[in-house]
Amino acid sequence: MPPTATLEDIKAYQQKVEKDKITPDNLPPCPRCSVESMFFKIHAYRERRFLIIIEMLIKAAYCSLVRFKCPGCGKTFTDYPDFAIPHKHYTRPSITGFSASYVESEDMTYQQAVIVDRSAPGYPQNDGTLAPSTIHRWITTLGRFTQTCRTALILLLQENPGSSICRDLARLIIPQRKYKTNQRKKQLTGCRQLVIIEAFFQATFKTSIFTKLATRFAFS
Ligand SMILES: [Zn+2]
Repeated sequence: MPPTATLEDIKAYQQKVEKDKITPDNLPPCPRCSVESMFFKIHAYRERRFLIIIEMLIKAAYCSLVRFKCPGCGKTFTDYPDFAIPHKHYTRPSITGFSASYVESEDMTYQQAVIVDRSAPGYPQNDGTLAPSTIHRWITTLGRFTQTCRTALILLLQENPGSSICRDLARLIIPQRKYKTNQRKKQLTGCRQLVIIEAFFQATFKTSIFTKLATRFAFS
């Protein structure tokens, strides 16, 4: 089974939107004028297309996202459900799942990284499949969550000072044939750290770093 959010996840968020259950509380304060997010007002609803994988087929599912507006300066902010990553159509479980299997393997190629049970998830309309270059881009994105990861690590160590997480992070090695530049090495390392931190975070706090932390740090 390929990793993906489900249609039920998306419908559940849509219901929360319709019942006015989405609050701005997890958003960071306005970066322009420092107004706290709890004072933000609902500005607009925008329909957003997501790609989920159902029985190896890539299908579109739609859901409204809520935009809030800062009353101080008028800047707008989107609240993202925890299955979404800004500017990505695939859902967070797909993005982290496929990326994790690539970064955690010693010798996997990007071509192999899209394969689940001997085939790649495909589009029902044509012969297209999930592209190896998409996984490459997802890793770039996940390698940038520096503030989220740093704070998650602090919370984990506060909760469990004896945790093996620092040893696990220190032991992490990216095989040399996976990168040609130092920048790529950094992205791969950042992504792999995120995968490790997320697993510890889920096990310790029973929630994902994407549920609140990533939003609080504006996905950085
Ligand atoms: Zn503002």
